[in-house]
Amino acid sequence: MEIDRALVSRIAERVLRELEGAEVTAPGTLLGCFPDVASAIQAAEKAFQAYRSIGLERRMEIIQRLREGLRLRVQELASIAVQETGMGRLEDKVKKNLLVINKTPGPEILRAEAVSGQHGLCLEELAPWGVIGAITPSTNPSESVINNGIGMISGGNAVVFNAHPSAKQTTAFTIDLMNRLLVTEGAPANLITCVSEPTIESANELMRSPGIKLVVVTGGPAVVKAAFASGKKVIAAGPGNPPVVVDETADLEQAGRGIVAGASFDNNIVCVCEKEVIAVEAIADRLKAAIVAAGAYELRGPEIATVEKLVVDGWHPNKEFVGKDASVILRAAGISFTGDPRLIFADVPFDHPFIQAELLMPLIGFTRARDIHEAIELAVKAEHGFRHTASMYSKNIDHLDEMARAVNCSIFVKNGANFNGLGFEGPGSTSFTIASPTGEGMTNAIHFTRRRRCVLKDHFRIV
Ligand code: NAD
Repeated sequence: MEIDRALVSRIAERVLRELEGAEVTAPGTLLGCFPDVASAIQAAEKAFQAYRSIGLERRMEIIQRLREGLRLRVQELASIAVQETGMGRLEDKVKKNLLVINKTPGPEILRAEAVSGQHGLCLEELAPWGVIGAITPSTNPSESVINNGIGMISGGNAVVFNAHPSAKQTTAFTIDLMNRLLVTEGAPANLITCVSEPTIESANELMRSPGIKLVVVTGGPAVVKAAFASGKKVIAAGPGNPPVVVDETADLEQAGRGIVAGASFDNNIVCVCEKEVIAVEAIADRLKAAIVAAGAYELRGPEIATVEKLVVDGWHPNKEFVGKDASVILRAAGISFTGDPRLIFADVPFDHPFIQAELLMPLIGFTRARDIHEAIELAVKAEHGFRHTASMYSKNIDHLDEMARAVNCSIFVKNGANFNGLGFEGPGSTSFTIASPTGEGMTNAIHFTRRRRCVLKDHFRIV
């Protein structure tokens, strides 16, 4: 029998790596999870130093294998998140996890640039920052870690995560899994670490630690504000309140289907999900019928105030209903319904909380505008200047152009569900850290690097 020596040596190398990985933690503990911020940073720094000697080609192979390993575990990743956070839909979480595993760009997007001239050669490369401090939301716990993790280590960095306290187990599970896959493929242990018991205090300690070179935060307004106070280079992905405008030229069946699919995706806890509809008066009633035909329940008369009292607390959502199924909300409000509606909507005035507040549940406001110009004006107001995500259904290119310019968001989707703009069932790569306050938009490995210029004077020219 002929022995494939290369294969044997590869298997032996893997076994050794696994044993090495096992040595770095005591039995029963989770790889990459540390009791405090200082030890999580220290371990990540050690990993970063070892990772520096691994070339770009190996980095690509490691990320490829990481994707393959994660793909096999999406069911577990999705169900642990639903169980722990009590938010979202299992089948949508599976789709979200697959999306970040498959469509987060890897090291292949890092391109060096070389310019030669009379005075020599100038090379610009994208170098790692070192150890990144990343704060993640409860709404996409494993997805944010996978998306940020792939992007950050593709850029040559190590990363310490501080999760939302209500998603700490999902985060630790994801980080343990990623570390095991990475170590097996020859990456240093603890390239991705976290604080086992994350709190707001540990988040602030992480962001301010001298060992952290870049701060990347994904969440609501409070964490964005805290990140700016860290005194570090910050990439901030904040809240949104994405409006959908529908005009009189739109394909209303398509709009109805897109609005229901988009606004109910993972029960609307994804930041890009449609949060309110602004319809031109001429087609408003027909659009409502299309939304109902696509599987939504329309609140009518006194039902609107009953549900408002239940799910809105001032201008904030009642946390009890964030990410819950539409049927749970309807039942809690004592409203009888048939089937299993994916979305609830209500025809309300523009200043209603269903329009103005980011509710993060499968319940959206619907309001009317005189014409397309007023609809766009209202959409810009409802978006509150977050510059996050907006969308429009129209066949009129002047209207689409007017809205794109006026709303000026990181993502603008035309004639599709907002998740299409996230790369889900749509073109382009994905990101779960859409940095509107700091301007990067859909973040990827390029944003997690810094430019380095290397100049050689008067050489490497033959003319
Ligand atoms: P959240 O703001 O409550 O928490 C986000 C993270 O920030 C958590 O880890 C939390 O512990 C931490 N945090 C909160 N307040 C902090 C403070 N004062 N100091 C330090 N850390 C703090 O958000 P959430 O409910 O977990 O997630 C939903 C929010 O995140 C929504 O507003 C949504 O739009 C936003 N989000 C944005 C993006 C994006 O890419 N722009 C992606 C996902 C979620």
